[in-house]
Amino acid sequence: MSKNAAKERSYEKKQILFSTLIIIAIAVFVIVGSVFMYNVFTQVNSATNDYTYEVTANKAVYVDNLINDELGLAKNIASAFPDYRENSRDTLNSKLEQLSRNNEMLNIIIVEPDGTAISYRGEDINVSSREYFKSAMEGNTCFSQPIYSTPDQKMVNVIASPIYNNDEIIGVVACMREAGYYSDELNITINSDTHRAYGCIISSDGTIISSGAKVLPEGVQPDDDAKFFDSNIVLAAEESTRNTLIDDFSKSDVTNSFRASIDGNNYVVYYSDLKSDSDLHYAAIYNEDALLSNLSRYTNGVLRLFIIFLIIIAIITLLFFITIRVTVKKLKVSNERLSAIAYIDSVTGFNTYGRFEEIAKELLQRSYRRYCLVSFDIDRFKVINDMFGHAEGNRVLQVVAQTVNRSLLDRETFARVSSDNFFILLSYKDDTDTIDRIKKIISAVSYEFADYVPVLSFGIYKIVDRNMSIRRMGDCADVARHTVKYREKGSWAFYSNAMTEALREEKTIENEMQNALDTHEFALYLQPKFSLVGPARLTGAEALVRWIRKGSVIPPGKFIPLFEKNRFIIKLDYYILDQVCRRLKKWENEGIPPILISVNMSRVHLRDPGFVDKLSEICAAHGVSPSCIEIEITESAAYDSLDVLVDVFRQLKSYGFHISIDDFGSGYSSLNMLKDLPADVLKIDRVFLTETNNQRANDIIGYVIKMARSLGMETICEGIETDEQAQLLRSLGCDMAQGFFFAKPMPCEDFEKNILESKD
Ligand code: C2E
Ligand code: MG
Ligand code: MG
Repeated sequence: MSKNAAKERSYEKKQILFSTLIIIAIAVFVIVGSVFMYNVFTQVNSATNDYTYEVTANKAVYVDNLINDELGLAKNIASAFPDYRENSRDTLNSKLEQLSRNNEMLNIIIVEPDGTAISYRGEDINVSSREYFKSAMEGNTCFSQPIYSTPDQKMVNVIASPIYNNDEIIGVVACMREAGYYSDELNITINSDTHRAYGCIISSDGTIISSGAKVLPEGVQPDDDAKFFDSNIVLAAEESTRNTLIDDFSKSDVTNSFRASIDGNNYVVYYSDLKSDSDLHYAAIYNEDALLSNLSRYTNGVLRLFIIFLIIIAIITLLFFITIRVTVKKLKVSNERLSAIAYIDSVTGFNTYGRFEEIAKELLQRSYRRYCLVSFDIDRFKVINDMFGHAEGNRVLQVVAQTVNRSLLDRETFARVSSDNFFILLSYKDDTDTIDRIKKIISAVSYEFADYVPVLSFGIYKIVDRNMSIRRMGDCADVARHTVKYREKGSWAFYSNAMTEALREEKTIENEMQNALDTHEFALYLQPKFSLVGPARLTGAEALVRWIRKGSVIPPGKFIPLFEKNRFIIKLDYYILDQVCRRLKKWENEGIPPILISVNMSRVHLRDPGFVDKLSEICAAHGVSPSCIEIEITESAAYDSLDVLVDVFRQLKSYGFHISIDDFGSGYSSLNMLKDLPADVLKIDRVFLTETNNQRANDIIGYVIKMARSLGMETICEGIETDEQAQLLRSLGCDMAQGFFFAKPMPCEDFEKNILESKD
């Protein structure tokens, strides 16, 4: 996974985590806030209730005192007339008028026991039927309910008190108070003048004796609150509570409340008894909305704060989310760009290896299908590049990639791993199924090309351990692929344990090679070369390495390919040259005439710019002239880079080395390249000899020999095993021959004894 993708994912994870936390925080906040608001509301509500109770109770005490004062006043006035009967009417009138005015009464009358009223205003009235008169005559000082005073055309409350003379009730004093006289005193103002509770004095049956609603400031109309409570409070209450009310009103020391709802308006009525008169109570009528507005004013403030806080939190959260989104988006864009670079192979337009690895890992973890990892490459792709150019090489890769892509099933993937090497993660049922799929790919690819068909070699590794690294699976598939390379037509091999054995063997060789070199286990063998012109004459010998390991002779084919892979060949080649020089020097010292010894040099050296200098140093170290040495470089070295090869040949020439192009004809040799290479000898590969009966093949050898000669090169044919082959080559004009027919490669001592000594 790319770093950016990981970063993006971790960002997204953090975002989700943070969002969850924010949501939880908001939820907690809302819950806590709601609980808090509920608490505030109930507390303020109960505080308001308590407050209202207290205010009403206080008012009741106040009203109680007021009534007390009124009753006291009436008593005092009554005590001023014990002998009213003896006073003249004028005296009484002036006394009553003065008292009336002084006490802001509408009127004060003295009522005789028969109900006849003595009024200073001269009205002729009889009040014998009035309740207050009857009650006062029984010795009570009382406060009447509002009654209509005919002479005044007004509603009045009468405070009546008996007039005693020697403990005998001789009449009653009745003080007329205008019904609205107490109104202002009875009402309760809440917060401001706009909200008021109407107070009233009621009797035990709920009848309103004096109401605050009766007198209103000038210009103020009586509102609903007052209107509905203007006759009897009990009637305003709901039926279910009426009995309780009547019961409460009959008791003393009761302070309570009830609710009433009239025409959609809600009221709370608080009431409290008055001590001054067991029949009287004080009641305050609160409009509940007005009461609640007080409460809501406070709670609204808190609520407003709460909402503002919520909005701020929401804005912060929103900003945070926007920032995160923008960051993630930016990251995604840059990630997509990076992905395009990191995930898309610039040549094929399909997956890069990195992407392949990611997808393959995921598929192997998620899918339960059987999978194999297939590695394939194009045989001698280098030649395609060299012969047709890089653009054509790229086109071949693209066509192959597109063909493979088309052949993929769901949940399969592929990628170009390097150069011309591809990996496919292929699902399969059985081996036949896999082979069929591969055959289809081979034929689909060949269908795409007309002039030449790229040859594909496949290695198949059946995945057992899904946790094994993709790279290792690929290595196994590569091992299998290498076993079938260069088979001329598309081929495949399943990776097997035997291959692992071979790998293990390679490992053992790698572990031992350095020690083998140090202990001279690598032995120099020589195979003579003979002239084909005239009688067979020794013209030189080829140095061939053998590994004498634990008594057995291991041929170079067993270890040189590995040494070329791990580049140990460099050391080995120098070692062999060193041995050759040593031998040449020895022969020189022994007076043996010099012969040309050819030494094989791997193409691996070509990548080392100091290669030729090193060869000359070795020769110089032994005092051997480079002209005694022929360097054999295989023609396939030209696949890597013809330019480099030409350069190396030139350097070799400049030091005086002989040069031989080895194994000519074994690969895709281009005759054309020969003209650029300043070689002395062209060594014809023994593949040409496999078909000596074929006239066409012989013609080709003849042509090659002629062409080499025309370029100033000698020719040698290797691998001559029969006299017939030797005769053929002689007839075709080949200069020299090397092969088992003449002599096999042999240890130096044998060469000295059998070849050099018999030379003469
Ligand atoms: P090469 O350079 O083409 O050497 C000739 C190979 O042909 C030798 O195989 C030789 O034994 C074999 N040969 C010669 N005559 C006949 C014949 O009549 N019939 C058959 N069947 N084979 C014949 P060898 O020694 O096994 O070497 C194989 C290859 O290993 C060599 O091919 C060369 O490419 C490489 N090699 C050997 N020694 C060295 C070395 O010191 N350095 C490097 N770089 N490569 C070496
Ligand atoms: Mg050779
Ligand atoms: Mg050869």
